[in-house]
Amino acid sequence: MPLSRRTQWLRRHFDFRPRKSLGQNFLRDGHVATHLAQAAAQFAPQRVIEIGPGLGALTVPLAESNWDLVAFESDRRLCEVLHWLFSDCEQVEIRQGDFLAADLTDLAGPDSVVVGNLPYYITTPILEKVFETHPGFAGLVITVQQEVAERIRAQPGTKQYGSLTIFCRYYAANIERLTTLPPQAFWPSPQVSSAALRLTLRAEPPDGIESETAFFAAVRGAFAHRRKTLRNSLKTATLLELSAEQVEALLTEAGIDGSRRGETLDFGEFVSLGNALHDIREGT
Ligand code: SAM
Repeated sequence: MPLSRRTQWLRRHFDFRPRKSLGQNFLRDGHVATHLAQAAAQFAPQRVIEIGPGLGALTVPLAESNWDLVAFESDRRLCEVLHWLFSDCEQVEIRQGDFLAADLTDLAGPDSVVVGNLPYYITTPILEKVFETHPGFAGLVITVQQEVAERIRAQPGTKQYGSLTIFCRYYAANIERLTTLPPQAFWPSPQVSSAALRLTLRAEPPDGIESETAFFAAVRGAFAHRRKTLRNSLKTATLLELSAEQVEALLTEAGIDGSRRGETLDFGEFVSLGNALHDIREGT
C-alpha cells in the first residue's frame, strides 16, 4: 500500500490526531522513505536505531532488511500503532520513551547507524546525544529543518557558519545532503522546508586536537560575539576568562590575525586556536 494511503488508514483506524508539541509531522512521500532507508543500508549496518518512528513511514522500508531495528517513540498512542504494525517482525523492537533519556551504550558501535525524521524541537540535543555516545555510531541518516541543514553544512565566511557547523565537523568526517523536502512532503505540513542528510561519523577525533575541551571553548569564544573581531570576541567571552595579554598570546601562537571575524576561520584554524588555548591554560 502506498505510504500516504497507509498513513491515512492508520490515522482513521486508530483515531490518531498529531501533536505539534511532539514535533509530529509524518512523512507522506514513500519515495523519500525508501531513499532514506537505502542511504542507511550503504553503511552495511547490523543494527539500526530509529528516533521517532511515528506511524512507521521509515520503519516499514527499514524493516525490509535483516538488521536489528530498535525504534524509540515517546508517544504511547503511536507505540500502540507500531506494535500492531510490526507484530510479525521479530527483528523490530519498539521502545516507548524519550530518546534523550535512553541508554544507548549497548546499541552503539561501528555496526550501528541512527536514522530518523527528527522531531525538530530537539534536533541539537539529539545530535549531542548521538555524537557523544561511546562507543560511537557508524553514521546517521536524518531529516532536519532546511535552515539547520544549511548551518550544519555551511562554509566559512557565511552567516550560517557557526558552532553547530564546527560541532558536526568534529564528529562527522563526511556530511552529504540527500534531498530537500518541501512542507507538503509531510502531514500535517510544517511551516518550513526540510532536508535529509547523511553523516559518516569518525571512529577517532580529528587529527591534531590536543584537548577537546579547549577546542570547543575556543569555538564558543570565537562565535560569542559574531559582530566583533575575533580579538574582541575572545576578550569579552566570559567563559574563557582571558586577559587582553593572554588573547594576544593566543592569537600569536595560533598564527591568526585577530582583526578577522570568528566566522572566517576554517576548521584547521579552530584546531590551532584550541591548541593555543590549551597551552595557555596549561601554562606551557
Ligand atoms: N518517523 C515518522 C515519519 O517520518 O513520519 C515520524 C517523524 S515526526 C517528525 C517525529 C516523531 O518523533 C514523532 O513520532 C514524535 O512522537 C516522536 N518524538 C518526539 N519527541 C520524541 C522523543 N523525545 N523521543 C522519541 N520520540 C520522539
